[in-house]
Amino acid sequence: MSISTVADLLYHFPSRYEDFSDVIEIANARKQLGQNVCVQGEITEIGSINTFKKFMNIVEVTIQDNSGQIKALWFNQPFLLKSLKEGSFVCLAGKVALGKEGIYLSNPIHEIINQDVENNELTHTGRIIPIYSETRGITSRWLRYIIKPILTILENQIPESLPNDILKKHKFLSINEAIWQVHFPESFEYADAAKARFSFEELFLIQLSVLKEKNRLMEKYAPAFPMDAELMKQFTESLPFQLTDSQKKCAFAILKDLEKPVPMSRLLQGDVGSGKTVVATMAGLNVIKKGGQVAFMAPTEILAKQHFKTITKLLKDFDVSIGLITSKNYRICKNSSTSDVDPNFEVSRKSLLGDLENGQIDILIGTHSIIQKGVEFKNLGFAVVDEQHRFGVDQRAKLFQTSKLTPHLLSMTATPIPRTLALTVYGDLDVSLISEMPKNRKKIKTVIVEPSERSKAYEFIEKEVKQGKGVFVICPKIESKKTNENLTPEVSRGRASPDFVPQNYNIKSLSSLSIVNDVKAVKEEYERLSKEVFPDLRITMLHGKMKAEEKERIMLDFAKGEIDILVSTSVVEVGVDVPRATIMMIEGAERFGLSQLHQFRGRVGRSDAQSYCFLFTTSPDQLNRKRLKAMVELDNGFKLAEKDLEIRGPGSLYGSQQWGIPDFAMEGLFNIFLVEKTRTTAKELLEKDPELKDYPILKEKLKSLEKRIHFE
Ligand code: ADP
Ligand code: MG
Repeated sequence: MSISTVADLLYHFPSRYEDFSDVIEIANARKQLGQNVCVQGEITEIGSINTFKKFMNIVEVTIQDNSGQIKALWFNQPFLLKSLKEGSFVCLAGKVALGKEGIYLSNPIHEIINQDVENNELTHTGRIIPIYSETRGITSRWLRYIIKPILTILENQIPESLPNDILKKHKFLSINEAIWQVHFPESFEYADAAKARFSFEELFLIQLSVLKEKNRLMEKYAPAFPMDAELMKQFTESLPFQLTDSQKKCAFAILKDLEKPVPMSRLLQGDVGSGKTVVATMAGLNVIKKGGQVAFMAPTEILAKQHFKTITKLLKDFDVSIGLITSKNYRICKNSSTSDVDPNFEVSRKSLLGDLENGQIDILIGTHSIIQKGVEFKNLGFAVVDEQHRFGVDQRAKLFQTSKLTPHLLSMTATPIPRTLALTVYGDLDVSLISEMPKNRKKIKTVIVEPSERSKAYEFIEKEVKQGKGVFVICPKIESKKTNENLTPEVSRGRASPDFVPQNYNIKSLSSLSIVNDVKAVKEEYERLSKEVFPDLRITMLHGKMKAEEKERIMLDFAKGEIDILVSTSVVEVGVDVPRATIMMIEGAERFGLSQLHQFRGRVGRSDAQSYCFLFTTSPDQLNRKRLKAMVELDNGFKLAEKDLEIRGPGSLYGSQQWGIPDFAMEGLFNIFLVEKTRTTAKELLEKDPELKDYPILKEKLKSLEKRIHFE
């Protein structure tokens, strides 16, 4: 459970509580069928049965108090016979059920009461008890059993990390009290007060870290690149389209930042298809012509190659040399209006890196290979990180290290980030937003397709293809198997989008298992579509297990119109730009999060032709329906993210594992008041004491937070 120290254990907070503080008489408990109750009494009878038919063991105990008696049954826990003895006193907490032989307590939590001790403080029953997130072999009971004595031993010895005046000002519980109350609260009010303190502290630390980083950056020196207005005008005039006002505004903000000798740290946000690439390219051109080099980092190989092509084209009249680096592929395109060099000119890694180091390459585009050892720029002035949420802070930092100077940094993302998050997670960045879409775009028509309407959808697709349009078909798996092993690699590593499968799947929604087995697999779907449904059309499949060259060739063929239907996994999720594609068909749509669906949808609607998004689903689940309906109603990524937040809650949307922020603090992350309070407090403290010299414990905690947290 990544618990390796006592502190880790104490900070493994309960995910919820069960209220067993009200111990009632057994006679009363018998009347509360279906309710959770807590009773105490003496064990008068004990026994165990094995039912061979169902391979089940049942431990059966009768307890008695002054008011009456009740049975308790435990299923498949024969070891209980060791601890439960006739004549001992126990406290039992659990649900009152009705079986063949009458009323009984079903699988109650038990606790032996030591009658020799007065005012026996109970741990598992007779109080509000903590329920922890569990893992195999580690139960809440075991955690309570381990944690309570530690808390008793440590009484008042945990050093206070929050400054005194902050504690006073916000009337927070002290750390010792808060730790106790969060695990074994006297009341729900105390539990809330404890959690309030800890989520304040966590966000406060994040703010401290982010603001310190910002202060550090402000002290660094970056090369200044004065804006060449004439050149920028030439560039915009060379484009086959007009920049939107929003694009112009964002480009201007970036160009202004680049003029300062302080490293820019800007996030360019813009919905899918809003045209971020051209904005970054424009700023890059300015940097190049003022003597700097540009790095352009993309999250996948497909995207890096696509950017290489796009940017080569955008800059073809500007005499710029552009390099491409991926794990196995090195290319250079020395652009100029006079020569017509093959943009696919392959070179050796050595020659590429040589040219980079002596400044003969102006822009290097690549995957994360771009920040690996040996990649040295002569004069890196401007680094662009596309789809920035895929890269961690440490990777951003690495990008800095490759050069003697600190380059200006532009991160780009289509991931909508609520204001609260922008202030915390991205607190060290200035944010520019491309708020409008290119004017030629038509709203993508989104439809939920019921199983009965499948053939109608296919007919429609065939008609579109006959008119030269391209179709994406997205399936959640590569091969169909009974196990989940074949989730596409991105998914099984949990990296795809944080919001792939809703994480709040619980046992109750076992009905969803049938859907899992029903998941459309790319290979099968490819066979089915090409043999049975569209035997006359040109269909190809694409998935993450293919070789890079193969993927690239397929994407090219698809873009050129030599493939009609591309059956793919989520590899086409981000960034892929094929304007002739007008239909995005998503199988098992309920399996994807809204942001990811929106990313998929953004693969079409990239020209002035009407585009469509078909969401195929067989899930009757109400929550899933609600989410898919939101896709139909909303076409704005930011609104969709808000909706997802509303439907699923922050935990599942921005998985806490993704960033290393504990669950208890996640909720606070979406509370604008708390976020602003922590931000102001952090600012004030850093103004007073920039190095936190007077707060060694806080400083220590900050260090460990910085190790733990990785914003993506
Ligand atoms: P994203 O912001 O999702 O990265 P891209 O930069 O890939 O979007 O741009 C999407 C498509 O829109 C590209 O084909 C690009 O050439 C085109 N585009 C960009 N800006 C405009 C504009 N102002 N008018 C028309 N098309 C544009
Ligand atoms: Mg993009």
